[in-house]
Amino acid sequence: MTRPLISSIDPGRLAFDIDGVVADTMSVFVRLAHERYGLTQLSKQDMLCYNLHDCLDLGKEIIDDLIVLTLDEEHTREIPPIPGAPEVLTELAAAAPLRFITARTEADAIREWIFSILPGVPRSRITVIASGSPESKLGFLHQLEIGYFVEDRLETCKHLKEAGIEPLLFEQPWNRDEPAPGCIRISDWMQLKECLLPLGANLG
Ligand SMILES: [Mg+2]
Repeated sequence: MTRPLISSIDPGRLAFDIDGVVADTMSVFVRLAHERYGLTQLSKQDMLCYNLHDCLDLGKEIIDDLIVLTLDEEHTREIPPIPGAPEVLTELAAAAPLRFITARTEADAIREWIFSILPGVPRSRITVIASGSPESKLGFLHQLEIGYFVEDRLETCKHLKEAGIEPLLFEQPWNRDEPAPGCIRISDWMQLKECLLPLGANLG
């Protein structure tokens, strides 16, 4: 596999999306689909596009209900982190403050969740911004002078690329088969760590 040559990224110019990058949010969606609707065949591998209405053979009301449940405060607390994310972010925090920009409309629950998975990082080193929509992430990224953004939504990556911010596309079933011209693909947090922390031993 060819490794992208991005080892010169300044950690201070990097920011992260949360759902689908740090948070394994869709695993909660799948669990709720099993528990509430008996949809035991459903798995994350069925989520082949970002807009679930376009790729899941389920009624609109069911999908909408599951999305609302998944993102509510109670279920946000139950989201497992994506493997490796807490460890790499904790290491990274030694080099630079951590900045997260989510398209969620409310920051409080997901900010508490971020704090909970990063107990070793001082809260003053963590910023969580809820932009309210994918499109409005760009303005916040410019404000914070971010040059690189880790994101799982392909459309957002393309939008950022056009605006001069380097997107790092975090691979998920919903973006894996889509062409992503000009986007650097990241398969998991171990790869991200290799790219970002070539001197990781010195940061810990
Ligand atoms: Mg996301």
